[in-house]
Amino acid sequence: MKEIHVVITMDCERPTTETRPEATGPRSYELSDRYIRGYVAIAAEFGFPVSFFIHPEVAMAQKALFLELEAKGACLGLHLHPWKFMDGRYRSHFGGLSEGEQRAILSEAIGLWLNTFGRRPLYFRTGTFSANDSTYRVMAELGFRGASNSVPGRLYPDLNAAWVGAEPDPHRAHPCFRLIKGTLDLANMPLTVDFSSVVEKQGRRFHWDLRPAWQGVDFRQIATNIVAQLKARAPKVPVMTLVTHNENDYMDANDRVCRNFRTVLNEIVAACEAAGAKAVGTTFDKICDRVLSEPVGEPEFTYV
Ligand SMILES: [Zn+2]
Repeated sequence: MKEIHVVITMDCERPTTETRPEATGPRSYELSDRYIRGYVAIAAEFGFPVSFFIHPEVAMAQKALFLELEAKGACLGLHLHPWKFMDGRYRSHFGGLSEGEQRAILSEAIGLWLNTFGRRPLYFRTGTFSANDSTYRVMAELGFRGASNSVPGRLYPDLNAAWVGAEPDPHRAHPCFRLIKGTLDLANMPLTVDFSSVVEKQGRRFHWDLRPAWQGVDFRQIATNIVAQLKARAPKVPVMTLVTHNENDYMDANDRVCRNFRTVLNEIVAACEAAGAKAVGTTFDKICDRVLSEPVGEPEFTYV
């Protein structure tokens, strides 16, 4: 494994004044602009572009910013928390919606994106990585080519996000079962996690990942473990990807999460180098290109 693709992502949320005080998101669109620009600038110090997953209302409010960033190499995708969408009539997380409801809300979001950018969204990440077995089928029907919907090992039943046993590396999605590889013309890029430990908190289970918002974790150890696990799995498309939100001040070098972000990027580069691989920044659409250019394999079948 000579190269490991690094995909830096950000979920762009509506301001909490439009949703709820305890929700993820900035306090205003002005702060959102500042945090996004700061994040892009730090990633650029390392030569890494950024892939955005943007709630439709944020795309409408900050259209000029996102088009400017796209012209400089960013990838733009859709993000959606049903309960945060428009007037809040979907009181649910994405994986809690029926197939018909998923089709309806995604179609409405696609319409808003089309009105804003003059084209359909091709990439999508559900809010809180919440999805069910209909999600990939609905996405493929609606013309998406890339999903980033899974966090292997995450078990948050209350958010309809259950990913224990999920495929850990980028793959074609399955039309009927969300955990395994399939044959859809839809790539899914899982969030990268360190499988070496399981964290259990308040009825939820997960593995550590590379998000800069974590407190009190050893990012060097996490990055080193992830690279070792990647080398052992040796996937066709090796990726290290991390997530954050537009809610931390990435312009303020003294901000805890901003400091962590530089630490995480340094540790990714160092862990790859120590393992004899180069960390190469890329965007989500390029990962989808790679996955979809692979021949469609016959799905494995287990006779028991
Ligand atoms: Zn979100």
